[in-house]
Amino acid sequence: STVLVWLRNDLRVADNPALDAALRSDERVVALFVHEADKAIRVPGGAARWWLHQSLTALGKDLAESGVALQVETGPATEVVDRVRRELEAGSVHWNRRYGPGQREVDAAIHSELRKKGVNVVSHAGNVLIEPWDIETGQGRPYSVFTPFWKALKQRHFARPLPRSPMEKSKVSTDEIDSDYTQPKWAGKLAQHWNVGESAAQQRLAQFLEHRLEDYPKGRDYPAWAVTSQLSAHLRSGEISVRQIWHAARTFAHAHPDSASAVEKFLSELAWRDFSYHQLYHRDDIDNSPMQAKYADLKWRHAPMQLKAWQTGQTGIPIIDAGMRELWETGYMHNRVRMLVASFLTKNLLIDWREGEHWFWDCLVDADDANNPASWQWVAGIGLDAAPYFRIFNPVTQGERFDPEGDYVRRWVPELSALPDKFIHDPSRAPENVLEQAGITLDDSYPRAIVDLKDSRRRALDAFGALSADA
Ligand code: FAD
Repeated sequence: STVLVWLRNDLRVADNPALDAALRSDERVVALFVHEADKAIRVPGGAARWWLHQSLTALGKDLAESGVALQVETGPATEVVDRVRRELEAGSVHWNRRYGPGQREVDAAIHSELRKKGVNVVSHAGNVLIEPWDIETGQGRPYSVFTPFWKALKQRHFARPLPRSPMEKSKVSTDEIDSDYTQPKWAGKLAQHWNVGESAAQQRLAQFLEHRLEDYPKGRDYPAWAVTSQLSAHLRSGEISVRQIWHAARTFAHAHPDSASAVEKFLSELAWRDFSYHQLYHRDDIDNSPMQAKYADLKWRHAPMQLKAWQTGQTGIPIIDAGMRELWETGYMHNRVRMLVASFLTKNLLIDWREGEHWFWDCLVDADDANNPASWQWVAGIGLDAAPYFRIFNPVTQGERFDPEGDYVRRWVPELSALPDKFIHDPSRAPENVLEQAGITLDDSYPRAIVDLKDSRRRALDAFGALSADA
């Protein structure tokens, strides 16, 4: 008979526990991916849909080599999974667990329905280092602060990744992947920036360890200095597992003892992903409701023109505009700049964090169910382990500190490229003749700042302070 593997955010052949279990069964294995149309499931944004399509195409080829056909369907998973199972007369269904409340609801419904019909349903742990319920505070509660979570996590031992498909099966042919979630036209440009798929992910990891890791602890805050791993979109689609990254980094540290502290720093950042999933699992609705409930009443401003200026990188604050344009062009933005643009939107513009979260959701190739809302809540100061609301980034001084020569700004805001370093983060401070020499006319070739940083900071402090117990 047949074993069905339902793939979701785990589009890889190696270290895929659900696929591995199926392959060990000695039966015919078919993989299924569903473009889900269930109400409880968040439809991936445009950039992520583009990525998904490339990823499924690569996976379909890889799986065929191992004798596994990949079937791609569209519809509510609650109907599709059972229908495909019946068509294939599959007696078992395997999947790797996912952790969002809506996702668990769908999976639980399918699980119980299939069980009733006598189907063997097995769920596996494959997408996080630690299952969210397997780690808790001394008081037996979920963690709400990262540092103790990290301290507890790093004591744990995680099993070694599973090698690629253990069974030799004969090759099957594979159909062209249908992309039923339409990919927006604008997403085509992303192809210039990314190699998608499992082998690209492995290559990126190897290159990161070999060439970038050493500079990571210091360099990771400097957006012009591309030393981070850029593994996020591979992780989001599951082309690489977090466990593979964990062990590869540890093994590297073993072989290169000098790199131990850089590896520790990298792994602590990687652990934020698990922390986000911990929150996604234990909290309801993190993409919609502040984890600190008192902020549900915050009076956000309705300012569509300013929102548009933020989205299109026309705010007149160079580092913000550089970040938003990097996002639009590449589907990615450096972490430091993500923090700055999110702070600028939610504090200086006092625009609802969900507007920003949605824009990121649509534009990021790594748009992630857990990391995106949890990070937005962190920056807005309304999440659990959040930056205190009164710590508001000044994007000009942050730019001067983390992009001191203005290389990042010049790359993404070329109209400012001739400005001297001294003024690159705040053109309004440049004397007329300097602007003229640089070929810049404020309001014309580059906008004036759409908001006064000082006044808007005050306004945010008042709005947040009014709801904060410690105000
Ligand atoms: P590296 O520094 O190389 O880190 C390796 C991996 O560790 C990352 O790929 C990621 O999986 C994890 N990681 C690192 N930093 C963080 C962090 N602060 N929080 C959670 N995980 C982290 N990350 C996403 O994966 N998807 C998102 O949708 C997302 N949205 C964000 C929104 C905002 C407003 C902010 C401030 C951050 C967001 N992040 C998100 C977190 C972080 O910016 C990215 O994970 C990181 O920039 C990806 O680049 P990298 O792979 O080179 O990171």
